[in-house]
Amino acid sequence: MSRSPTSIARMNKQRFDYVIVGAGSAGCVLADLLSADGHHSVLLLENGGSDRSVVIQMPSALSIPMNMPKYNWFFHTEPEPGLGGRSLHTPRGKVLGGSSSINGLVYIRGNPLDFERWVGEGATGWGYADVLPYFRRAERRAEGGNEYRGANGKLGTSYGTLSNPLHAAWLVAAEQAGYPHTEDVNGFQQEGFGRMDMTVANGRRCSTANAYLRPALRRATPVSGQRSPPHRKVQQPEAVPRARRG
Ligand SMILES: Cc1cc2nc3c(=O)[nH]c(=O)nc-3n(C[C@H](O)[C@H](O)[C@H](O)COP(=O)(O)OP(=O)(O)OC[C@H]3O[C@@H](n4cnc5c(N)ncnc54)[C@H](O)[C@@H]3O)c2cc1C
Repeated sequence: MSRSPTSIARMNKQRFDYVIVGAGSAGCVLADLLSADGHHSVLLLENGGSDRSVVIQMPSALSIPMNMPKYNWFFHTEPEPGLGGRSLHTPRGKVLGGSSSINGLVYIRGNPLDFERWVGEGATGWGYADVLPYFRRAERRAEGGNEYRGANGKLGTSYGTLSNPLHAAWLVAAEQAGYPHTEDVNGFQQEGFGRMDMTVANGRRCSTANAYLRPALRRATPVSGQRSPPHRKVQQPEAVPRARRG
């Protein structure tokens, strides 16, 4: 998806139906959705670079990219009066896939009662029953779908392998200590100790770049790509899922 400054200049003369700034979680999904009908061209601009590194793609390396300035903007808060004046590190992804390429891979939905509370506070249409179909539609769960979980979407999720006997012992210990057990934290009962879902598919990180952007680029014709010279850091073109030449 890399492109030379020449192809970037050529792209500058092209017209697109949509321009998306940031190829992060939202940007990759949007690029896929907006180009899906085959009638609209999309320009997706990303400041960061390639996500091909093994430390991004390999789930067990997850703590590495989030600590690399190459992939993390390393934002810090203003000094917080309530924290003795400390500034807190606020990581954000700076790479294709955005934060979904450097995050902790935990797939856990909001608690249903939170959605209900938001509706009570005026967020009509955001109740748990309203959003559940979208969660299910997005998800491709390795362990299969049911009334809470999706199996045919693009975002791959899977349980980790519990091969270490200490994992099972931990869950037994939690029950012995009086805590509830849950079979599925994204299913009927969120509360309790149980296995956690990861955004991992076929042994790879299932970032939104892998889940949404790459299939979109395969479907369409990529006409322009990513990196501009360093002095043009902002709004470098990253990839263009383009279903129709304009
Ligand atoms: C270290 C870390 C761990 C996390 N762990 C988890 C987890 O385990 N589970 C979970 O559910 N969530 C986790 N999250 C949160 C989750 O990943 C984010 O909430 C989500 O990815 C944010 O999506 P987004 O589209 O809002 O932004 P991002 O995915 O951050 O995308 C924004 C993109 O815009 C680009 N950009 C910014 N400015 C410009 C510009 N001017 N021009 C071009 N491009 C620009 C950025 O480089 C970036 O790629 C974690 C986040 C981080 C950083």
